[in-house]
Amino acid sequence: MIKAFISGLFCITLLFHLTAAEQRGINNLPTPPAFLPAGAVTRSPSNIPPYKADSVIVLVYRINFSDKDCPYDEPELNKIHDTTNQMYHEWSGGKFRAIFKVHPQAFNAPNTSDYYYANWGEYVDFCESNINNTGVNFDDPGVTTRILTLAPEFGFNSSAAPPWVSIAGGYEPWVIIHEMGHALALLHANGLEAEEQIIGVEDYEKENMEYGNVYGNMGIGYNLDYGPVYKDYFGWFEPDEVKKLTSTGVYKLYPHDQAVRAHTPIAMTIPSGNGKYTYWLEYRPEDQETREGVLFHLAGYLNNSPGHPRYDARFWDTVSYLLDMTPNSEPNPQWWGDDMKDAALTIGNTFEDPFDGFYIKVLGVNNGVWDENGWVELEVYIPNTYAVSPEPDKKSFKLLLPELFHNEQYDVSAFNVLGKSVTGIDPYHNKVSEGLYIIKITDKKSGEAIVNKKVILSR
Ligand SMILES: [Zn+2]
Repeated sequence: MIKAFISGLFCITLLFHLTAAEQRGINNLPTPPAFLPAGAVTRSPSNIPPYKADSVIVLVYRINFSDKDCPYDEPELNKIHDTTNQMYHEWSGGKFRAIFKVHPQAFNAPNTSDYYYANWGEYVDFCESNINNTGVNFDDPGVTTRILTLAPEFGFNSSAAPPWVSIAGGYEPWVIIHEMGHALALLHANGLEAEEQIIGVEDYEKENMEYGNVYGNMGIGYNLDYGPVYKDYFGWFEPDEVKKLTSTGVYKLYPHDQAVRAHTPIAMTIPSGNGKYTYWLEYRPEDQETREGVLFHLAGYLNNSPGHPRYDARFWDTVSYLLDMTPNSEPNPQWWGDDMKDAALTIGNTFEDPFDGFYIKVLGVNNGVWDENGWVELEVYIPNTYAVSPEPDKKSFKLLLPELFHNEQYDVSAFNVLGKSVTGIDPYHNKVSEGLYIIKITDKKSGEAIVNKKVILSR
């Protein structure tokens, strides 16, 4: 029997149903130990490449203490194995699975749970020597092999670092997947807290919100799919499923978090104007908080590389940062994820890359269709590019017919999206360059605005 969540980090799964007192209890917890202490595992490769294998072998060891037995029996392990693989199957688009190999006998550790809580090092030594005795190298079991120990609860939360996942107590499969993410060299999916700004100045102490991706499993999104940065790490996207935005235009983005993938693209990337970062865009219609917009993640920011305050060579260098498109909407959050619960860029709103690379506005969603056929439509403007496949805004284009431009009745003015006035606009005679414009057409006599909207001009 899996016990309910007991304490610590993963109680967050219940946050949305917690009483205020329970929330306070969680808030009073110290920062949970996310990873196994450095030194517990001696293998420390310095430059971790993405994990592109189609499977991982998980060597499973059950551990009993003198006062408590391992909470996982064989039927429970089978259930965990199947559920874990069902999740991997859906999240990866059928590209990944975990192959559990359960050691037939549980190891009987001689001391109590309280003893091992006070003597973590002895617990590590016990695991290491017993696992080594099975002929497996505890520190380096193989490139596509990981170790999973299942012990009774003893004060420590589950934690992991390559190549070992240490579970203490009964947990849901998504916790195993979270820890497997660490064992496969992923750090947490975090949030970026830059107060009034969406993106700050790469100040780790001030801006890093650990676990802050409230919509993804490597953050505190518990049973929700990994975000696009980490799915890409595993190679779970086909090339045509990720759209690299390089041109001004109007684009649809489809969900990647559904059991079925029905359309492309299901993720988008666009570089920051300074060339340092990559934005990843995703659409998650499942959740009411995210279905009316698009989520942005930043990759390449506060990297896990030498010089980073929490550099750990056992992990991949890229940390996925969820961007909050309404920064500081909760200046005094009750718990650390509150400010991120409105992270999506919603319909009618615009995000401008602070490094002058682009501008993206959310035009709409496939309203009411919250499955694999859902989409969010985006207007993307990248300076000095034109729409390759503009699906021209024909309605708007019609309004730019020459008779309108040379009609005494109307006054036509245009601004580019950065607010600069464009004089003498006459797209019919190609006197204006391609791009995204705000066109205003007013009736000269009445002063009434006939049109006041953005249009994409393409030749
Ligand atoms: Zn973690």
